[in-house]
Amino acid sequence: MRYARIAVERGVDLPDGLTYAVPDSMADLRIGERVEAPLGRGDAASPGFVIDVNVQPDLDPARIKPLSRRTGMSLPPTMIDLARWIARYYCAPLGMTLAAMAPAAVRRGVGGVVRTEVEPTGAEPIGKLPPATKAAWEALQSFDLGRFPLPPRELADHLELRTIGPINRLIEIGALRSLKVRRVRAAWAEHAAEADRGLVLTPDQQRIVDAIVAKIGSFSAHLVRGVTGAGKTEVYLRILERVIERGECAIVLVPEISLTPQTAGRFLGRLAKEGVAVLHSGLTSAQRNAQWSLVSDGRVRVVVGARSAIFAPFARELGRPVGLIIVDEEHDGAYKQDQLPRYNARDVAVKRAQLEGCPVVMGSASPSLESWRNAKEGRYTLHELTERAGGAFMPRVEVIDFAEERRARPWRENRVSLIGPRMEKAIGRALDADGQVILLLNRRGYANYICCPDHRCGWVMTCDDCDAATVYHRDKRLPAGGYVRCHHCLAQQRLPAVCPRCGKTVNTFGMGSQRVEEELAMRFPQLVPDETMLRLDSDNVTSGRLWSELLQRFGSGEVKLLVGTQMIAKGLDFPNVRLVGVVNADTAINLPDFRSAERTFQLISQVAGRAGRCAERRGYVIVQTFSPEAPPIRYAANHDYVGFADEELALRERAGLPPATRMARIVVRHKDLVKATGMARAVADALRRGAGSEVHIRGPMPCPISRISGQHRIAVELIARSAAPIQSAIARARSEGALRSDAHTAVDVDPIALL
Ligand code: ADP
Ligand code: ZN
Ligand code: ZN
Repeated sequence: MRYARIAVERGVDLPDGLTYAVPDSMADLRIGERVEAPLGRGDAASPGFVIDVNVQPDLDPARIKPLSRRTGMSLPPTMIDLARWIARYYCAPLGMTLAAMAPAAVRRGVGGVVRTEVEPTGAEPIGKLPPATKAAWEALQSFDLGRFPLPPRELADHLELRTIGPINRLIEIGALRSLKVRRVRAAWAEHAAEADRGLVLTPDQQRIVDAIVAKIGSFSAHLVRGVTGAGKTEVYLRILERVIERGECAIVLVPEISLTPQTAGRFLGRLAKEGVAVLHSGLTSAQRNAQWSLVSDGRVRVVVGARSAIFAPFARELGRPVGLIIVDEEHDGAYKQDQLPRYNARDVAVKRAQLEGCPVVMGSASPSLESWRNAKEGRYTLHELTERAGGAFMPRVEVIDFAEERRARPWRENRVSLIGPRMEKAIGRALDADGQVILLLNRRGYANYICCPDHRCGWVMTCDDCDAATVYHRDKRLPAGGYVRCHHCLAQQRLPAVCPRCGKTVNTFGMGSQRVEEELAMRFPQLVPDETMLRLDSDNVTSGRLWSELLQRFGSGEVKLLVGTQMIAKGLDFPNVRLVGVVNADTAINLPDFRSAERTFQLISQVAGRAGRCAERRGYVIVQTFSPEAPPIRYAANHDYVGFADEELALRERAGLPPATRMARIVVRHKDLVKATGMARAVADALRRGAGSEVHIRGPMPCPISRISGQHRIAVELIARSAAPIQSAIARARSEGALRSDAHTAVDVDPIALL
């Protein structure tokens, strides 16, 4: 009898899987295959992946159960190695990690995109036709043949038929035939940009391309730091083309692809010939399945996608080796998955490149301090682009002390203005010159502070289930004119008219992008909401398709001004943007998270990078802030990444925080505070018992947001100079059963979110 080790997808956290007997009918079973195995009391068939074959039985062979069946789906062997690394490093069950590597639709084999379409057979209908069918036939004669095949419903629409009945009749009589067609749809394909292959690289770009191309064929890690608009994308494309010429494949990661249709479009446009698959969370399961099979069937050589695209099933054994991995905007927090397995796709990309033996190229205008430190210490090769390509200049950035401006114009219509006089003047000038404007305010809603006007009363509206204030959103469609929402648990309430404690009329304070929109509409008659002015945030941009549409309206010039949250800071490339305004640069600066300065710097640099992306005119950026002297704001205004990064790195070094150290964070959640604290204490004790002296363990302590959705949240943090001692402390507690990732306990290695 032969035996195999299986990592089942659910339930058990065993790094080496479970042993099963391999029936003779499955004698050729291979590592990476997805199978079903009997598990648990009822021997229910449970899916899992083969992680080893031809193993020795580790218990009485009579008690080893045979595998139930193969599912027909499989992962390349390299991915099994990668999954083992992820499961170990990020403290996640192996089976669940493997399951996360393939979209659910692929694992289940559902949601195929084979659909029925029709085309003419060339045969003429004979005999007398019913009137509707005859009309349909006649309309068909002037229909462009190049548009076939297409779905019957669509054809009926084009022919202005009320039903598809006549089309079915034409099929029955042999004038049309129906066929099964495999279709792949991606909304961003519409954005496929001009294939500007003719560009002559700048000497700096060429130098970087040459240096990285020389490394193709084995593992190396590169960090490309290039100011916004420096032409990093062009550099990636040139290296990609060389890799493809060698007959290899490539993975391009972009953060949240649905938010960056322009970037995705450039890759699609340039590499259309080689075939590009797009993988990200905004696809329907059918679309995802289709894109995945494009890769696994060998029909494309390039994958562009968000986080999970790092698991694209290219494989050397199948003649499709990965020759290059690109991680664009590598600093972006969207690369970190916030549920099991809690991996960071950027770091997984480095690991995969190592396993595949290929270069990995990470790029950003404001690299994460983690990557910056890796570059400074020689683990990554640093390449820099310090000027914009194509003759464009970096925008001029003006920092405005908002406290001072408010003294100049404190109240207006009984409210504090969010747009100060200088910002207002600059917007007016940009609009008068027929330029476009982008305004960033990283706060959704209308007002983020709802309270009693009487200081002696002091009532502030908070969420019943979270340790957080609630936010007022206006919505004219609602009878109450709006609602109050908690941004953590999404619970919704009505805006109370009066203070529940003392009965005075409540005040709404603070800022939100809806209020900015309202102020703008009041001051600039030419800015009409939903016509010449768009507000973009996750409340009203609900799909990638809608996002693309809205951006197109901006690109066409019909829309003059965009106001939005950080989603507008990313990757937009519109040459007519004269002015970028940061309404309040302080939204992130005071958060109790050691990365708040880094995030502030990144956000301002990124959004400032949207201005002046053409050679004719220099762009202009206005930053309103209550802390004009804060380092991230000063350095971002001077486009001085290196100055910021080195100063911030020194601070982290002194404080013993990442990236000078490594961190893992365990958050225990429970409805009952006593239970939560007790569980967290048990975890901390177990870790302290097993950890070496080089690991510093903090906590248990309440999280900065101590309660979300009624769950109390208690944290334990592990900090050490390197990852290894943290790993072994966690591994020991895990093997003792004192620590497991489950509904109550989240283990987050290299955490990004600390609230
Ligand atoms: P980044 O990715 O660094 O922000 P992009 O690759 O988007 O920069 O390039 C910014 C703009 O400059 C794009 O419109 C691009 O077509 C253009 N560009 C890039 N390289 C060159 C070049 N060598 N010559 C002229 N224009 C270039
Ligand atoms: Zn809440
Ligand atoms: Zn009150």
